[in-house]
Amino acid sequence: MGHVLVDDSVFHVFFDKDAAPVARACSGDLATFVCRDCYDGEIAHDYFDFKKINMKNNNPASGPLYVEGAEPGDVLKVEILSIDLADHGCMSARPGVGVYEIDAPVCRTFSIHDGCGDIDGVLIPLKPMIGVIGTAPAGEPESTQTPGEHGGNLDIRNMNAGNTLYLPVNVPGALLSMGDLHGVQGDGETVICALEAPGRVTVRLTVLKGRSVPTPFLVSPTHYMTTAADASLDVCSVQAARKMHRFLMEHGHLDAAKAGMLLSLQGNLRISQVVNPKKGCIMEFPKGLIPIDFEE
Ligand code: CA
Ligand code: CA
Repeated sequence: MGHVLVDDSVFHVFFDKDAAPVARACSGDLATFVCRDCYDGEIAHDYFDFKKINMKNNNPASGPLYVEGAEPGDVLKVEILSIDLADHGCMSARPGVGVYEIDAPVCRTFSIHDGCGDIDGVLIPLKPMIGVIGTAPAGEPESTQTPGEHGGNLDIRNMNAGNTLYLPVNVPGALLSMGDLHGVQGDGETVICALEAPGRVTVRLTVLKGRSVPTPFLVSPTHYMTTAADASLDVCSVQAARKMHRFLMEHGHLDAAKAGMLLSLQGNLRISQVVNPKKGCIMEFPKGLIPIDFEE
């Protein structure tokens, strides 16, 4: 088993099948991605002038990493082993983005200490997560601003260490990239950003052949989570729920009515974010309630 380093000296802002890989890994290898923050480190001090930030480099993703043997139709299993953040983070709140009425842009930096983000004395326990993680789509490049079936700017607060993400392999080598690490984020990410921080993520990568997985699919020690993204919350909420419905029928061997009833009782349909070009929802269903033949 190898351990590959993907540093942050090269980054991209499009998931692109034609992007040159920066490193190569084999199935079973560990990979550590060093990631810049979503503002590419440009919020240099507290109350920084937003106009000075070059937003062309927003959401820089480190990679792509070529995974040997990954072919279109396979699934890439990404076990998130650790997320280590710097001792500081930043946020912005701006007019015209997010869901709130904000008069003028404000960029802030905050310290991270004792396992908390220190928001002017309000200590928020960290729950470090990956905002942007995905593989290259088969077709046109996808901006790192946008979530989709390839992954991308998912901003799901459950993208934590200890959980496992399953991504589609659309092109040879999968071309995995990630960035946009968050110290902590609430459902919705309503002001436009989370506690943005640079850091490093270590994952174990496994190429799965011939597996039926409703990608992008997230599994925690307690829950299965299906995901969907669309410009309309009405659309992606139904898509996320129906992905889990199909998962329960296929892997829980339930008929459509029974799967629907169980989901209505124990499935939580949640908003992941409402601030990206496509909004995101997840449907989560508890493990252990019924036998599921999905092999992690
Ligand atoms: Ca994001
Ligand atoms: Ca972010």
